[in-house]
Amino acid sequence: MAGTNHTEYALALDLGGTFIKSAVVSDMGTVEKNWKVPTEADQGGDHVRNRLVGLCRTMLEDLPPMIRNEQVVGLGIGSPGVFDYDTGQLVAGAVNLPGMSGTPLRAMFEESLGLPTRVDNDANAFALAEAKWGAGKGAQSLIAYTIGTGVGGGVVLNGQVLHGAWGFAGELGHVTVEPEGEPCPCGNRGCVEPYSSANGIANYARKLVMEGGEGLLAGLPPESITCKDVGDAARQGDALAISAVERAAYYLGIAIAAAVIVLNPEVVVIGGGGSLLGEMLFEPIRRHLLERVYHQPVRQVPVVGAKLGTDSGVIGAGALAFAGKGEVALL
Ligand code: ZN
Repeated sequence: MAGTNHTEYALALDLGGTFIKSAVVSDMGTVEKNWKVPTEADQGGDHVRNRLVGLCRTMLEDLPPMIRNEQVVGLGIGSPGVFDYDTGQLVAGAVNLPGMSGTPLRAMFEESLGLPTRVDNDANAFALAEAKWGAGKGAQSLIAYTIGTGVGGGVVLNGQVLHGAWGFAGELGHVTVEPEGEPCPCGNRGCVEPYSSANGIANYARKLVMEGGEGLLAGLPPESITCKDVGDAARQGDALAISAVERAAYYLGIAIAAAVIVLNPEVVVIGGGGSLLGEMLFEPIRRHLLERVYHQPVRQVPVVGAKLGTDSGVIGAGALAFAGKGEVALL
């Protein structure tokens, strides 16, 4: 029928410590309309839960004119934290979202909105979205990293997020790369996170400057040095900054090699603020993979930057809703 819109849409919620972002996402991965409100996490779990439900009602009442209610097939929610994927419960919320642990997110929304709801860790949602619509578009298997405050990770296998037996599969930022190395917030030592996160890169550059290192970064107050500063200096050929990026790539290369050997993914996607380092980070990672994964010289797993950009949180949540559509069994 001419003029009839057969596209399906999902409501998407991206719960963060500072903002809740929501969007209507199409089955092509495009954001049709979006909203953003402060989380006001300090006002407690009930307040945040009410805001989440309120945002969903707003989305349903305020759909773009071309979209009919029956074209909305589900809701996806991405959030930091640990989930029980059998029940859709947020078992342990993030420290910056107090009072959210134990929230039965899926049941809560299915009851209040009558929409099939799927929830997942935000890094897993990101990996799924990059596999469906982003840098790994069409890939059935992919591993994804987000280089930010920490190092997030997600694994997609057979087109589905891999959760594992107890829900913590794909925590790629907590692969050990230095047996007695730096402490990690997770309790382990020597995880890739403290070495290769954006914070880790900035911390290392700061340490070099405080030890008397010279160059462009030495002109900045050490405590103010950010990962972006390191990237800017490295782009100008600054040796200290380049060594900080190379070190992050070295440890990421070790971690990625371990994951590639286990999973043989079609593609490795790297996103988050730290991925703006671009080829300065990706090229040495590829070099380390070539050294460490003995299949690489024959056929190389591509290492590429994420494509979905600043909307990746809500697009990831939308991807969850479509991945869950019509399914009962979860991988
Ligand atoms: Zn860790």
